[in-house]
Amino acid sequence: MAISEELFERACRVIPGGVNSPVRAFRRLDRAPFFVAKAAGAHLTDEDGRQYIDYVGTWGPAILGHAPECVISAVQAAVPQGLGYGIPTRIEVDMAETICRWIPSIEKVRMTNSGTEATMSAVRLARGYTGRKYIIKFAGCYHGHVDSLLVAAGSGALTHGEPDSAGVPAEFANLTIVLPYNDRAAVERAFAQHPGEIAGIIVEPFPGNAGFFLPKPGYLEFLREITEKNGALLIFDEVMTGFRISAAGVQGKIGITPDITTLGKIIGGGLPVGAFGGRREIMDCVSPLGPVYQAGTLSGNPVAMAAGLAQLNYLEQHDSYTRLEQLGARLEEGVRRILRDENLPLTFMRDGSMFCLHFTEQDVYDLDTAMSGNFDMFRRYFHAMLEQGVYVAPSPYETGFISTAHTEADIDATVAAMQYALRVANNQ
Ligand SMILES: *Cc1c(COP(=O)(O)O)cnc(C)c1O
Repeated sequence: MAISEELFERACRVIPGGVNSPVRAFRRLDRAPFFVAKAAGAHLTDEDGRQYIDYVGTWGPAILGHAPECVISAVQAAVPQGLGYGIPTRIEVDMAETICRWIPSIEKVRMTNSGTEATMSAVRLARGYTGRKYIIKFAGCYHGHVDSLLVAAGSGALTHGEPDSAGVPAEFANLTIVLPYNDRAAVERAFAQHPGEIAGIIVEPFPGNAGFFLPKPGYLEFLREITEKNGALLIFDEVMTGFRISAAGVQGKIGITPDITTLGKIIGGGLPVGAFGGRREIMDCVSPLGPVYQAGTLSGNPVAMAAGLAQLNYLEQHDSYTRLEQLGARLEEGVRRILRDENLPLTFMRDGSMFCLHFTEQDVYDLDTAMSGNFDMFRRYFHAMLEQGVYVAPSPYETGFISTAHTEADIDATVAAMQYALRVANNQ
C-alpha cells in the first residue's frame, strides 16, 4: 500500500474524515488524498516520492510558489526574537501601513488569524455600525465557516453537498438573505422588502468558491450604488482575490470602493493570517475604540506578520502581476487550443492567475450555472491529471491558482497533460 494511503487510514481513525479541512478530502473522487512531504516553488512532493505541478497553491496563499526564499528568510529572522508576546510589535504597524497603502479603501485595519475570523468580524461590524440585522450574501459565495454565512455556501460545503450546515439554527440563518449572483432585480426586491433593516451586502467580487466566474458588466457598480442609497455597507470579501487579482485586489482592478474589505490567504505568506479593514469611521466602532467587540490572542503574530509582509514586499518589487498575467494567458491559450482541437465546448474562465475549467457548455455566471457541469467527466479528468503529475483542485467547484514560481515549461507540460486528460475524460 502507498504511504499516503497508510497515513490516510491512520488519519481517519483520529481526525474526522482524515482531514483538518474538508476541501482536502478526495471523497467524491474515490481515492485517498496524497500526503505532502515537502514543496518547493510550483512543485509538491508526496510521501511516496511522487511529484506534482501544483495549481492549488495552498488554496490561494502560495502566490510566489512554495517556500519562497524571501518568506523563509523573513521567518528565520523573526523566530529567534520570540514567537509572539500578546503585546504590540513594530511589524504589526508595518503590516497595517502596507495594507492601507496598497488598498486605499482601507484606512484602518485589524489583523485576525484566518479569513473566517475576518468575515465574521466584518459582518458583526456592519451590523454594529448600522444597527441593522440582515445581511445579504450570494449563493455559491463562500465566506468561511461563520454561522450566519454558511448558507448556500461554496467551496468544500458545495463539493460535499452541504451548502447549508447542520448546527446553524434557522433563527440565525433567517438573518441572512441569500440571493443569486449577478441578479440585480433580486437585490432590489430584498431592499424593498426590508427597508432600513439590511446592514450590508457581503460579496466575493470575483467568486472563486463555486469554480471561478465573473460579475456581469456594471453588477458590482450596481451593488455599490444600491447599498449607498439604502444606508447599507458593501463588504468585499477579498480573502481569495486580495493581492491576487491586482495589488489592490478586485477593487483596485475595477475601481470600486467598498466600505469594508476582508483579507486572508496571501497576506499570511503561508502562515495563518486574516484581516478586515475599511473606512476610518466604520473601523473606529471596533473595540477598544467602539462597541463592536473583536479580539485575538495570537492576532498580529510577529512571525506570521514577517512572512506575510515579506511576500507582499516581494510582489510589489518584482512586477509580479505582469508575470502572473503572462503565465495565465499562456495557459488560457493552450486550453482554448485543446478545446478547439478536441471539439470540446467546455467553459473556461480566467482572470490573471485565477482560472477554472467548467465541465459545462453553458455560460457560468452564478451558482446554478456553475453547478451545471458534468461531475463524472471532471472525476475522470482529475485522475488523469494526477496520473500525469499535475495537481488541480479535487473539486470542479474550486479555482486554479498560478504562482510566480510556475515556469513556461510547467505551463506547457500542464497543457499537454490536460489534452491527454480531457481525451480520457471525454472518451467514456
Ligand atoms: C478561503 C476563504 C475564506 C475563509 O478563509 P479561511 O482562512 O479559510 O478561514 C473566506 N472568504 C473567501 C472568499 C475565501 O476564499
